[in-house]
Amino acid sequence: MNTRPFDQVFFDCDSTLTRIEGIDELARRANVADQLIPLTTAAMNGEMPLEEVYSRRLQIIQPTRQDLQWLAQRYQDEIVDDAVAVVSRLQQLGKKIHIISGGLRLPILELGQFLGINQENIHAVDINFDDTGHYQGFDCSTPLACNGGKAKICAALEKAGDRNVLIGDGVTDLEAQDVGVVVIGFGGVARRDEVIKRSAAYIEGPGLSGLLDIMLTVEEKSQTPGFLKV
Ligand SMILES: [Mg+2]
Repeated sequence: MNTRPFDQVFFDCDSTLTRIEGIDELARRANVADQLIPLTTAAMNGEMPLEEVYSRRLQIIQPTRQDLQWLAQRYQDEIVDDAVAVVSRLQQLGKKIHIISGGLRLPILELGQFLGINQENIHAVDINFDDTGHYQGFDCSTPLACNGGKAKICAALEKAGDRNVLIGDGVTDLEAQDVGVVVIGFGGVARRDEVIKRSAAYIEGPGLSGLLDIMLTVEEKSQTPGFLKV
């Protein structure tokens, strides 16, 4: 895999950069977690399109601006081991880092800022609020709330001749393979057989440092020795 350097590195967010799932956390905070279980099951069984599940979950949770600020802190408190060091090392090597997530933008923006990732490289779902910070729906135009959304974002970011890699824990992350992105599975938080089976390579975790060993070329590994053990 690592004979030619990668140009861009795409990270999933929930259960990849952070140990939690944002929507589940918000549901627990709102005491509606039980109501979401049938929706999640229906989505996983393919009985309901992802976009419908997405909008119904948010309708039930009704997340406020304050809830999202709370989640932003939770994301940082639960950051995956080595995430800061791995992102920093990849940036030192000149790679463009993006976060591509079906999660909500505000907390992911703050996590991105914590990791030193540019705001314009965060791809997530926008929520609308009224003047008092109450939920007023989400941006339905984003492909990220739909099946196949991650592949669309990857395709839009691709430049001719680029070699791109995506790291994620979920089956939706595998969609990036459809547009030529190399997908590395991450099992440090959630381990899924289908991802183990279908990804180009797999990191068991618990931290992300194994990613460097898998994706950097021999030359790249020798460029910043001692920063992280690879
Ligand atoms: Mg994930």
